[in-house]
Amino acid sequence: MRLTIFGTGYVGLVTGACLADVGHEVTCVDVDQAKIDRLRIGDVPIYEPGLSALIDRAVKGGTLHFTTDAPSSVRGADVLFIAVGTPSDETGSADLQHVLAVATTIAEAAETSKIVVVKSTVPVGTGERVKARLQFMQRANKIEHEVVSNPEFLKEGSAISDFMRPDRIIVGAETEHAKKVMHEIYEPYIRNHDRTMYMDIKSAELTKYAANAMLATKISFINEIANLAERLGADIEHVRRGIGADQRIGYHFIYPGAGYGGSCFPKDVQALAQTAKRAGYDTPLLAAVETINARQKRVLFEKLTQELGDVRDRTVAVWGLAFKPNTDDIREAPSRTLIEALWEGGARVQAFDPVAAMEFRLAYPDRPNELVLSADKYAALEGADALVICTEWQLFRAPDFEEMALRLNRRLIVDGRNLYVPERMASIGWTYSSIGRQTTRPRTTGGTT
Ligand code: NAD
Repeated sequence: MRLTIFGTGYVGLVTGACLADVGHEVTCVDVDQAKIDRLRIGDVPIYEPGLSALIDRAVKGGTLHFTTDAPSSVRGADVLFIAVGTPSDETGSADLQHVLAVATTIAEAAETSKIVVVKSTVPVGTGERVKARLQFMQRANKIEHEVVSNPEFLKEGSAISDFMRPDRIIVGAETEHAKKVMHEIYEPYIRNHDRTMYMDIKSAELTKYAANAMLATKISFINEIANLAERLGADIEHVRRGIGADQRIGYHFIYPGAGYGGSCFPKDVQALAQTAKRAGYDTPLLAAVETINARQKRVLFEKLTQELGDVRDRTVAVWGLAFKPNTDDIREAPSRTLIEALWEGGARVQAFDPVAAMEFRLAYPDRPNELVLSADKYAALEGADALVICTEWQLFRAPDFEEMALRLNRRLIVDGRNLYVPERMASIGWTYSSIGRQTTRPRTTGGTT
């Protein structure tokens, strides 16, 4: 089938590459000329494991194309996916300007009727707005387009396997024809087990927000219990395993940490609350989830100052800048809250992240002296007064603690991801502060690893 995808971000690129890989004829369109130029020479602008190779294969196979020429991409396809960004506006609602701009482009260019699939995360009622925009723009030539809601559930870091082996495919559609076409598009991925769920458009739109709000709630819940555990002398890791064993709760997604970040949970929880507000309904649970998360993002700084006191003129090493491992996405990352607080307090930061360093530099171009980005994890520790861990990259899990002690001014780690065993850290001479567990202090001053 001939498909056009608007937006070559995390969702658009993965969707385009995966659908091209199974043989669909895919054109990816973006308004960002520089991005398209890079993609055309095989330079993938985001870090997502496996994505470069997949794109390369599909481009060489002749099924994947990149362009900024939106009108001819509209005319050349049967199905048009909208996968552009829907960031928060100043009220916290989803800003639909990019989605509606694509709808306008489609209406202006289309000469035959199309299926327009909204893959961006959009508030309930957006399908109707897209349809109204298409109809209004095409009232003269009477072309009727169909609108489908097909929210995306991929996770950055494992996006390709999530897309190719989805837990479910949600399709909000009004006609049997649209359902049939969506089935054909996804058929290569659901041949063994059809996981498609068909529903009305509004339910599909709400399903996406409900899923993200539920996941964010789990994180805020465990963080709240973790903070309580610290104050009561309990250990959240025992508590986590204890509750996870209950099948009604489960072990997934109840890891305590430095708060959720990324491009989805923060904006989607806010946008859902705004949708509810417009519907005249109060959402105290969503408000609490957000409040707890905002507080949690400050916990690392608070823990650090408990140990160091004033951070003025201190140097602090930070491991991990991405909001989670296996991505270069730093949108709303807890590392940003920490580092901005450190700068505010007059500290200097030496940071290491295996893939997100460049993104971080681009986000803070005016901090040449207060931010040193190190090429390896040990170099970031040189002369620093403490290490703070923000992201649980695999390469932080079993470091050489003796090497670390030689580089740092003092043996102090604040760990936002609970990577190490507190008693062991105490036995090898470290002060170790983590989430939801008691801070341990050196039992010896030296020791081996
Ligand atoms: P992104 O910011 O990485 O990429 C969006 C792209 O759209 C950009 O390249 C931008 O230049 C392009 N764009 C903007 N206006 C355009 C237009 N008129 N025509 C063509 N291209 C245009 O966004 P993303 O992270 O891929 O997210 C896209 C949507 O998918 C959002 O609604 C998001 O909430 C949702 N989503 C994201 C994820 C994720 O993990 N990133 C997962 C599920 C759903």
